[in-house]
Amino acid sequence: MLGGVRPLILVDVDGPLNPWAANPKPPRYRPFDVRVGWRRKLRVHLDPRHGAALLELAGELDAELAWATSWMHRANTDIAPRIGLPALKVVEFHDEHGWKYPAVARYGYERPLVWFDDDFGLHPARRDEFVHKRRHLTTALVHVDPATGITERHLGDARRAFSRNL
Ligand SMILES: [Mg+2]
Repeated sequence: MLGGVRPLILVDVDGPLNPWAANPKPPRYRPFDVRVGWRRKLRVHLDPRHGAALLELAGELDAELAWATSWMHRANTDIAPRIGLPALKVVEFHDEHGWKYPAVARYGYERPLVWFDDDFGLHPARRDEFVHKRRHLTTALVHVDPATGITERHLGDARRAFSRNL
């Protein structure tokens, strides 16, 4: 733990866990149909090993895992059990201004963090402001290509960000 403050590992669903841009899907991903409305289903592809990999990373860094996804609480009911994760805390997004950055800044207040997402490039000015305000803290924005999902390389990036600052 860093100075008694528990780091955060934030995880997005679409892109990092559900590689929506991959065609075909990488091996090991399995299809799941998630009900998203009356009679409507959404197909997601998940790698059942991702849960164990994220829990292992959280254990190594003594970090808290949390969701930072527009799935919000549905990540706990529809995604977590399929990849072997327990229910996690959820960063809630109710304000569309500034994408996820304002809510994550509040949630991660003064805590080091690593964040897996495929959309950091959407609002570069907001991203730079977010990182700048947290420049005294480890802030690892790990971009995950939605054509690959989280791989060993991304997990390695997260470990390296923390090992530099421990
Ligand atoms: Mg995404």
